[in-house]
Amino acid sequence: MTIMGVATKVRVCSFDMAEVPPDGYVLAEEQGEIYFCNARCLCLWAVHFVTNPRRPEEEKLIACELIMPSGELRKFSDLIEVAQWSAANVLRGHSNPWLWNGTKVP
Ligand SMILES: [Zn+2]
Repeated sequence: MTIMGVATKVRVCSFDMAEVPPDGYVLAEEQGEIYFCNARCLCLWAVHFVTNPRRPEEEKLIACELIMPSGELRKFSDLIEVAQWSAANVLRGHSNPWLWNGTKVP
């Protein structure tokens, strides 16, 4: 897709296949990046992924980085941590210990 002569790539949400706005979430690992519209799409995708009994356990243990809408970057040792963090993130409140999952990258 090209807008005003600048090539742009449409980013499609891995949860609902909608076009991801500029303030979406990006989940990156060695194989590439996937995108999410918002905190809800991220949480539902991640929980669905890690609770899927047909998915090999090793796929749930892949280290990854999450780029927030704010531009903040957070590293996680596996997708189970991401699912826990994203659930705490979308449910809000400040007391959920899952919010401390992962490591903020300065
Ligand atoms: Zn979405």
